Amino acid sequence: MRILLVEDEQKVASFVKKGLEEEGYAVDLAADGEAGLLMALDDVHDLIILDINLPQKDGIEVLRTLRRKKKTTPVLLLTIRAAIEDKVIGLDTGADDYLTKPFAFQELLARARALLRRRTDAELPVLKVADLTLDPSSRLVARGEETIELTAKEFSLLDYFMRNQGRVLTRAMISEHVWDYSFDTETNVIDVYVNYLRKKIDTGHNPKLIHTVRGVGYVLKVE
Ligand code: CA
Repeated sequence: MRILLVEDEQKVASFVKKGLEEEGYAVDLAADGEAGLLMALDDVHDLIILDINLPQKDGIEVLRTLRRKKKTTPVLLLTIRAAIEDKVIGLDTGADDYLTKPFAFQELLARARALLRRRTDAELPVLKVADLTLDPSSRLVARGEETIELTAKEFSLLDYFMRNQGRVLTRAMISEHVWDYSFDTETNVIDVYVNYLRKKIDTGHNPKLIHTVRGVGYVLKVE
């Protein structure tokens, strides 16, 4: 799961980014409306957390442009003004939810999860490949009867693999969906994580599900 955070207040931005990363989300940060809009138009994010008061372009304008361009990524608006008009304009423009500053991180996280869940529930309920299951709502992963404990990052990686069952995923594709823009694709971090995941998913089980496609990347499939 990859989240775009558009927030110009550095303190809030780094606190939210850090918190979300600890929960296993990949987070891209934009410090003004113009940069935020450009990143949002890439269409690689599962959720956008958008501050209303931003330099260059305000959040409402960013949101309006996104919706006009038929981008349906869920948007959680951040506002310091508790004014009814702000909320109404935001929701009318196509925001999915809003949060008034100051907020507790736990509340932001709960709302972010709800929006992500709404999206995943609508798309796919429980993911299943052979006897491997992943439930996006409860975040439970199991192989047959055996529950598998994954770290937040491993979970995101497996979620991406399972949504693309049978499709060869290059390191670039994996980094784009599971890590953020600042991720250095020259490192072997992806291979290391795929190996961790493979140990937990495949060791002691048949059929093997994660396969290496030499020189290209990885594929999750039943062979
Ligand atoms: Ca602001």
